[in-house]
Amino acid sequence: MKIIQNGTLVTPKGLYDLSLAIYNGKIVEIGEITPKEDDEIIDASGCLVFPGFIDAHTHLDLPVGGNLTADDFESGTRAAAAGGTTTIVDFATQYEGDTLLNALDTWKRKAEGKAHVNYAFHMAVCDWNDNARHELKALREAGVSSLKVYMAYDTALNDAEILELLEDAKKYGFIVGCHCENGSVITNRQERLKAGGRFGTDAHPLAHPAEAEAEAISRFCYLGKLSGCPINIVHLSTRLGLQEVKKAKEQGVKVYVESCPQYMILDESKYELPDFEGAKYVCSPPLRRAEDIYALREAVIVGDIDTIATDHCSFRFDTQKNLGRDDFTKIPNGCPGIEHRPVIMKKIFGDQISAMDYCRLMSSNPAKVFGMYPRKGALQEGADADITVWDPGVKWTIRANDMEQNVDYTPFEGLKVEGRPRFVFVNGELAAENGRSTDIHMGEYVRR
Ligand SMILES: [Zn+2]
Repeated sequence: MKIIQNGTLVTPKGLYDLSLAIYNGKIVEIGEITPKEDDEIIDASGCLVFPGFIDAHTHLDLPVGGNLTADDFESGTRAAAAGGTTTIVDFATQYEGDTLLNALDTWKRKAEGKAHVNYAFHMAVCDWNDNARHELKALREAGVSSLKVYMAYDTALNDAEILELLEDAKKYGFIVGCHCENGSVITNRQERLKAGGRFGTDAHPLAHPAEAEAEAISRFCYLGKLSGCPINIVHLSTRLGLQEVKKAKEQGVKVYVESCPQYMILDESKYELPDFEGAKYVCSPPLRRAEDIYALREAVIVGDIDTIATDHCSFRFDTQKNLGRDDFTKIPNGCPGIEHRPVIMKKIFGDQISAMDYCRLMSSNPAKVFGMYPRKGALQEGADADITVWDPGVKWTIRANDMEQNVDYTPFEGLKVEGRPRFVFVNGELAAENGRSTDIHMGEYVRR
């Protein structure tokens, strides 16, 4: 057995100065444990012991307009482990003409044998048709409990398709996430900005107004209400969007909210940086204004945001972001973050949220919302031994040349931070130590 001792166990309900024993990939005992001679002792003194963090929004090995993301399941999950994340939920994408089950197989193959942390998949449905409808039951049986739709981009479904999908999804017990932005408004604004000679990164936030997010959130919530299906607003980024969620909740809509650290610490002034530096921050939705940052932080503190994910979608600055040097609409959208989410959340909130709330946002809630609880997201006997031993005292600075993410920059470059995982266990094995991967591939597919 491995015995983690001298640390403080954290659950959403409290803090406990107890030991925890791991055997065969599971948590087998929690309490005051007297180690036996051949037990391996893990010293967690001064540390908080969390159920391993879950990042329920990542894009690894994803082709976007002829570009493949810089991180695949090897480097992406290595970076996840280094930062304290033990399970990710990535997106299998069904492209036009493809089946849902084939899309799931395609993504499973991308991850198999490469993953340092556990992985599951949401199914992004981009071609809603009778065949897809009939596959939902089999998809559910294959361990997928969440779907995703887009209201923008060439992957978008129209409103009627989304409503049909929601109605069928409800029958099989899915939760449906949505990229909520009004696609035609964005495309139109991009065209008009370029016609007016605006090709730089400073035009990017102008093409994605907060109203286009809020309007889409409102529409998606009403479709959720009509269908009765539980829904999830992914990467919510605006104060206006939060207001729409609040209205929907008052009407009894079963709506969950995800947001991401970058929207709570970086703002749209980044797009005005000289020398094309703004491209490093081009993601959709874009970084927002101070008022949005304030509203999102408040929403986290009062419990209006359910889960924190990264939307990790990394592209190299030198060769990939560069494709949009003369036209901001050609910049591959997305930012890296899978490695730094836990420490950035500590940086933003410090003691404004308790260790229990932090545990809820980073671990238990994503496990519950996405059908993995209590196998994941819980410190209890019988749960998988995915454990993050967090040392709050370590002071360090985020540097791109000192990280596991396979990309040539980080949006958090130079940020001084506190705290780092001392040990990260995935299925009972040590996947990272002191912020470095141990280079073992313990990750397994998580049926949900
Ligand atoms: Zn995404």
